[in-house]
Amino acid sequence: MENPSLLPAFTRRAITVLMLFATGLVTNVLAATSSGWDIAKIDGHEYVSVESMKQFYNFTKISRSGSSIILENAKIEMKLNAGGNECLMNNVKFVFSNPVAMIGDKAYVSRVDLAKLIDPVLRPNFIQNAGDFRTVVIDPGHGGKDPGATNSLGNESDYNLKVAGLVRTQLQLKGFKVIMTRDSDIYLSLQERVNLANAVKESAIYVSIHFNSGSRAARGIETFTLSPPGVAHYGSDWKATDNQTRVGNEHDSANIALATSVHGSILRRLGKNTFDRGIKRARFSVLSGVTHPAILLEGGFLTHPYEARLIENPDYQKAIAGGIVDAIGKYRFAVSPKPAPATQN
Ligand SMILES: [Zn+2]
Repeated sequence: MENPSLLPAFTRRAITVLMLFATGLVTNVLAATSSGWDIAKIDGHEYVSVESMKQFYNFTKISRSGSSIILENAKIEMKLNAGGNECLMNNVKFVFSNPVAMIGDKAYVSRVDLAKLIDPVLRPNFIQNAGDFRTVVIDPGHGGKDPGATNSLGNESDYNLKVAGLVRTQLQLKGFKVIMTRDSDIYLSLQERVNLANAVKESAIYVSIHFNSGSRAARGIETFTLSPPGVAHYGSDWKATDNQTRVGNEHDSANIALATSVHGSILRRLGKNTFDRGIKRARFSVLSGVTHPAILLEGGFLTHPYEARLIENPDYQKAIAGGIVDAIGKYRFAVSPKPAPATQN
């Protein structure tokens, strides 16, 4: 089986766990099961039981404590919360499109979260034609007449450009071709950014770099990928147009795998100097319109008094840039097809 969208038939296949790249424990494991998926319909959505996920992804144990549900094996720990939208995989936070549901004492995860989030994160090497890129489009958000978020220390547009410049230098040293949507303080519309990216005809990925604004208490990093069809923009009510497939949905699996790699890598670089706000779904126009796998990173809040000073610090900027660069290399390896293990049956 290539994808849980083909549920319930599945076979014994080698799987690679992207999260393990985070810890350097790159391993193939066998999904050893021959039973089908346990599917239920809840509030109009299809759900699959956590028990059948345990079998398919070869988790060795499910433990429950209050509303907390933990699936684990030697390499990965997945924490879910009954009724909640947050999922932690190896301590990286993902925001599900639908809350974890309960039928009696059985927990269920929505099929869109299984097919569009859990599966590509756990099995990135099943993502088709994603690993053959050498080109990275870096999009420093805002610029020119649009400074983005501002505070007394500086403008978001300048911080975006600084981090983007560091990313470009490091990627070029690693042999990547880098295309910047802007490399000076100029204004570009969102559509111009999309057009620049889509003029790149070779395989590429697209990383948009931003810093955030919010209340004085809001802090931390978050990474956005395009909402799959049927899923609303983060924090917005669902609308009928959310069912429409966008250009960027062609790369749903690659989008979430790229976001996982970048988000996890930056979290590890920043350590206690950040807070994990999670990997979220959005319908930003650059994510909707770009023909390459695409993510949008928010690297911290200019409106938080302490984080604002961190963002001004070149070490913080280097940590974000280094995290992005590391993550791109790991992502490319993770989504490249691997030879099947000789012992596979
Ligand atoms: Zn911004």
